[in-house]
Amino acid sequence: MKPPTIPVAKPWMGQPEADAASRAILSGWVTQGPEVAAFEREFAAAVEAPYACAVSNCTTALHLALLAAGVGPGDEVITASHSFIATANAIRHCGAVPVFVDIERDTYNLDPRALAAAVSPRTRAVLAVHQIGLPCDLRAIVDFARPRGLPVIEDAACAIGSEIRRDGRWQKIGAPYGDVACFSFHPRKLVSTGDGGMLTTANPEWDRKFRLWRQHGMSVPDTVRHGSAQVVFEDYVEVGFNYRLTDVQAAMGREQLKRLPAMIERRRTQAARYRQLLSSVAGLGLPAEPDWARANWQSYCVRLPNGASQRAVMQAMLDRGISTRRGVMCSHREPAYATAPWRAGGSLVESERAQDGAIILPLYHDMTDADQERVAAALREALA
Ligand SMILES: *Cc1c(COP(=O)(O)O)cnc(C)c1O
Repeated sequence: MKPPTIPVAKPWMGQPEADAASRAILSGWVTQGPEVAAFEREFAAAVEAPYACAVSNCTTALHLALLAAGVGPGDEVITASHSFIATANAIRHCGAVPVFVDIERDTYNLDPRALAAAVSPRTRAVLAVHQIGLPCDLRAIVDFARPRGLPVIEDAACAIGSEIRRDGRWQKIGAPYGDVACFSFHPRKLVSTGDGGMLTTANPEWDRKFRLWRQHGMSVPDTVRHGSAQVVFEDYVEVGFNYRLTDVQAAMGREQLKRLPAMIERRRTQAARYRQLLSSVAGLGLPAEPDWARANWQSYCVRLPNGASQRAVMQAMLDRGISTRRGVMCSHREPAYATAPWRAGGSLVESERAQDGAIILPLYHDMTDADQERVAAALREALA
């Protein structure tokens, strides 16, 4: 009998999350309410951020972050093309133009040395991605952006629990460094609420705007109206959005957050195990962690040896019951960007090479040592 297929990713959740969702459902308050407020407090504490605002997903978080940074029609935002398409799309949602810069070969993250050539008089912000959970070089990016008056927005969709060293001290992604960080709770990330997102910032004015915009620009949140002994009439002070997270999702998220330290510990062990199993494979490039960064290992990405066919390797592994994904996409190569306004801020050759020459191996909490050995053996055979 064929052994079961090993998936590329799988969320780690169970009865506590189901009970929490049930608690919210039976409480009589199901949309944004007390569970969302508690989830925000607990998330802020977990990453040591002064403010945390929950929204419907990371794409809407990025949209609000860009709006707070003042990005509007005709503006340019420097970012990586080598990212999930939501990064670039959020810029487009503001009517602005993504300016794509290349990534570093070893870290798959935005190359700070590429920023200078991408700047124009229309540049309004830098959108930096912590790709697959490895922190990007925020120090170099912030040192570049701040003197030019450019806000730094962190796409931290994959980077919950990842850490970066700043002034000799380790801090979590989401603690103040850039101007705002945006997280995702999609099932492909570590902590999941099905769908969901979070914005963290040290800027009270931006946090106030996020809260206003996520709920239709309503001056008085419905939780406040609901709890008031006086009749309250609300105003709609700006054209906002419905970007709310629900209390059912937030209740799940609070349980997921309790699991985060165990999730990360497990993934660090598994990443070390992959390194052990794969370091002797000739020509295979294993992921690098700079000495100032600690990944949460949202994904484990390996670079195939020169000349190996990505599709053939992935197919050979699938034939052996191992699911993989190709390297992170490049937005500028997608049909949606064929005629859309965007600009290359320089060469994108490393971005394209990473998409075409890397694959993502299975990694999830329940994955056993034997599963990892099966993956390593299948990869060896596929390359042989
Ligand atoms: C997943 C992801 C997003 C989008 O997150 P959603 O919560 O699904 O909207 C954005 N950027 C990156 C880098 C991602 O990996």
